[in-house]
Amino acid sequence: MKKVFIFLGPPGSGKGTQTSRLSDKLSIPHIDTGSLLRKNIEDKTQLGIIAKGFIDKGQLVPLHVVSSVIKERLLKEDCKNGYILDGFPRSIEQAEALASILEETGEFTLKNDAMAVYFDVDTEILVQRLINRRSCPNCGTIYNLTSNPPKIMDYCDICDTKLVQRADDNEQTARARFETYERETKPLYDYFKQLGILKELDADKPILEIWENLKELIFEQ
Ligand SMILES: [Zn+2]
Repeated sequence: MKKVFIFLGPPGSGKGTQTSRLSDKLSIPHIDTGSLLRKNIEDKTQLGIIAKGFIDKGQLVPLHVVSSVIKERLLKEDCKNGYILDGFPRSIEQAEALASILEETGEFTLKNDAMAVYFDVDTEILVQRLINRRSCPNCGTIYNLTSNPPKIMDYCDICDTKLVQRADDNEQTARARFETYERETKPLYDYFKQLGILKELDADKPILEIWENLKELIFEQ
């Protein structure tokens, strides 16, 4: 069975839910690059301090720093049986960096031990889901005007406050976000496909069904 999982999917594709399930099922850690960096910064590790220097200047943390943070994490004992990577790699350059990290850590290789799972979902459906999302500014309850509407239009069922739409849930922002995702993911999709480690998962389905299909992909190996 494969040991290293790379999940590729747009925001709202249910990738997060499936990551938690798989992490529990296989007892392997879920490595989310964003949280990992934040943790290093919080703990003031050597790499965290370097990363913070870039962030404070309003710059992106360079790939060699991110790679070092990831490498250090992958060398920990709990990664011996595998792990799920989230948020990394996001580009070919990062995928190549990952290949070198794996070579250096010596445990797994991309070609033999990794599986990239592409969460295939109609982004138009995700855009509609986002632009129909409303939340209560008072109690935080989330509604969806089509799939989970409040009983009284625009008012919270629980506390009767007028619902709001988050600024980044407007159509233009939502579309821009998915366009960025597609632009970033397409080259990775091709890269993993060429390596022969890409699996596609139809993610336009209920959570449980996606989970069953994901298990089939993983355990049939
Ligand atoms: Zn409320």
